[in-house]
Amino acid sequence: MKFKTNGLILKEQSIHEQDKLVTVLTSSHGVIRAFVRRAKNIKSPKCASTGLLCFSQLSIFENKGTYSIDEAKSIEMFMGLRKDVRNMSLAQYFCELSLNLCPKEQEADEFLRLILNALFLLSNNKKDPWLLKACVEMRLMGLCGYMPDLVMCDCCGEYEAPLMTFIPKTGKLFCESCSRKNGALGIVAPISVITALRHTFYADFEKLFSFNLNEDSLKLLNVISEAYLSSITEKDYLTLQFFKMMSD
Ligand SMILES: [Zn+2]
Repeated sequence: MKFKTNGLILKEQSIHEQDKLVTVLTSSHGVIRAFVRRAKNIKSPKCASTGLLCFSQLSIFENKGTYSIDEAKSIEMFMGLRKDVRNMSLAQYFCELSLNLCPKEQEADEFLRLILNALFLLSNNKKDPWLLKACVEMRLMGLCGYMPDLVMCDCCGEYEAPLMTFIPKTGKLFCESCSRKNGALGIVAPISVITALRHTFYADFEKLFSFNLNEDSLKLLNVISEAYLSSITEKDYLTLQFFKMMSD
């Protein structure tokens, strides 16, 4: 069976002299692994358009669960990423998250849209990388069905206490007094950070990246998003460690 789809190359591996195996996040089939024959021929248009972090229009042939890319035409190469090691390392973290969290062999349009938009903003230096990171981490969790309950204090129903405590393990929120009463172990944050956290989950996609936070608040938002992500995925991300090293 032959089909056309758009996809972002998340990973590439060499096999044999001329061929490679790529892992792609496609809109129609989610994450798939596909062979690219004669991909290393520099004259082949497939060479560039199936490289890491290229978003391309793909013609794919599927036979008994094995995919191969017949034709590839690049749509966006994200050249801005390739000039900046730190931005590139964050982009690779987004790839690692996608590899682990995006659906496999099923439609994944919203996942692809999220990652592409974040890469576009990162590549063009339109947003703080830390803001993009927190948004991608939390929105991915939401798309995977792990929605925390951020509407109000889980105990008394308070919406906006000056300080609120987020519990990464349960995804619940407590106001300051209930959290003290219950001895809840979590991350204490001012309401401005909680509002931003709510935004990463509940905002319409078009407005997802449209907010600003000062540096300290953004740091705290990232502490929360990493804690929530790691409590669910229970995984260390090497690319994340590298991005942090580059940010020091
Ligand atoms: Zn309360």
